[in-house]
Amino acid sequence: MKAVVVGAGIAGLVTARQLGLAGWEVAVLEKSDAPRADGYMMDFFGPGVEASEKIGLYPRLAQVAYRIEAAQYVDVAGRPTASLDYQRFSRLAGGKVLSLLRPDMERAALAALNDVPDGRAGIRYSAPVSRVSNDGDGVRVHIGGAGDERGHGSLCADVLIGADGIHSAVRAAVFGPEDRYLRPLGMRAAAFIVTEPNLNARFRDRFTLTDSIDRTAGFYGLRSDEVAAFMVYRDVQGFPGSGDTRERLRREFAGLGGAVDRLLELCPEHPYDDVVAQVVMPGWHHGRTVLVGDACGAVSLLAGQGGSLAIAGAAMLGDVLGPVDSAAGIGPALAEFERRWKPFVDVAQASGRRAASSFVPASRTGRLLRRWIIRATHLPGVDRLVARMIVGRIAR
Ligand SMILES: Cc1cc2nc3c(=O)[nH]c(=O)nc-3n(C[C@H](O)[C@H](O)[C@H](O)COP(=O)(O)OP(=O)(O)OC[C@H]3O[C@@H](n4cnc5c(N)ncnc54)[C@H](O)[C@@H]3O)c2cc1C
Repeated sequence: MKAVVVGAGIAGLVTARQLGLAGWEVAVLEKSDAPRADGYMMDFFGPGVEASEKIGLYPRLAQVAYRIEAAQYVDVAGRPTASLDYQRFSRLAGGKVLSLLRPDMERAALAALNDVPDGRAGIRYSAPVSRVSNDGDGVRVHIGGAGDERGHGSLCADVLIGADGIHSAVRAAVFGPEDRYLRPLGMRAAAFIVTEPNLNARFRDRFTLTDSIDRTAGFYGLRSDEVAAFMVYRDVQGFPGSGDTRERLRREFAGLGGAVDRLLELCPEHPYDDVVAQVVMPGWHHGRTVLVGDACGAVSLLAGQGGSLAIAGAAMLGDVLGPVDSAAGIGPALAEFERRWKPFVDVAQASGRRAASSFVPASRTGRLLRRWIIRATHLPGVDRLVARMIVGRIAR
């Protein structure tokens, strides 16, 4: 059986590996010209932990994880206002919370693709997909950007897996235009990595976040002299982002203190910058095409579980589709994947929507409330409750 996976993010790579190990021939098509180096620090907990342990990916992830002591909110002078003890949170979550840089997570999944024997799973970079057509019994995927009439060849497969993220081209080609499924949450997020030894030393071992209203900037010092920064701000206009991103960030994040100013001085010309949104769909499969990861069920960074859900969803798709050995088995397997996995994603999305207001408070009262909640996590009992709220409900 043959599959084409569009997108070499975490969902695409894990799906490709699991299908390859089950005996499928898999081609991954990725629009970037190499593994993407840009990224941000991610919390990894919940269903992806169990799934990655089951498929043998967890040790590779643990190897590249960072140890974060605390998440600390600071005022404009850099003074702490509230702090969340990560190690304590991790212990309450069964010791299974990893802090991973997105590109490290993807590199670990990429290395794991080598577990598939006989080169049965391969990746082609610089291979954007924008068109899909039926091909007799199978599905044909055309390589080439939108408006690229000449195209760069095509591939035919028994199944097409769209793992191409929040702005999925496979979803647009098979299920309809983006605005039908993308639900902006009224914010934008930017992320970038800069080299700054002084700030690196200052932000090591802890997540530092600005205790600000309508915008939040967060930093973490990496193993090298680098600092990973992310910035989330309210944006009622939604998408697309217009103008010079770096200028917009400098405007939006002015007055938050010297560290933020310095990071924005060093901010690259084209940092990651996108709408904070969920993808909500009534169904994830159509004919021989299925979506996985952010493409069909993005929860947004506010849920802090997108990577975890991407791995767990991909592992489940591999479990359900892997054993299929005839065309007749494909439809039922894709329906079964959706039946088993979609309810978990629905719950995570609801929790992501609830988290939006506390992540970026809109008023002084909202900010005060967040401080109280964080301080309360130091009380015995409340800490357990919060950990269970964040991890437990989804993990079950
Ligand atoms: C700032 C920020 C912070 C976050 N923090 C966390 C966190 O703490 N914890 C957490 O679990 N999650 C977090 N997330 C979410 C997480 O990053 C995503 O949910 C996860 O990466 C989704 O993986 P994916 O493989 O589905 O999609 P993606 O990572 O988006 O990968 C999609 C891939 O498809 C490729 N592609 C796109 N279009 C095409 C095309 N037409 N043809 C070919 N290839 C294409 C892309 O280049 C990319 O490689 C965060 C997200 C952001 C933005």
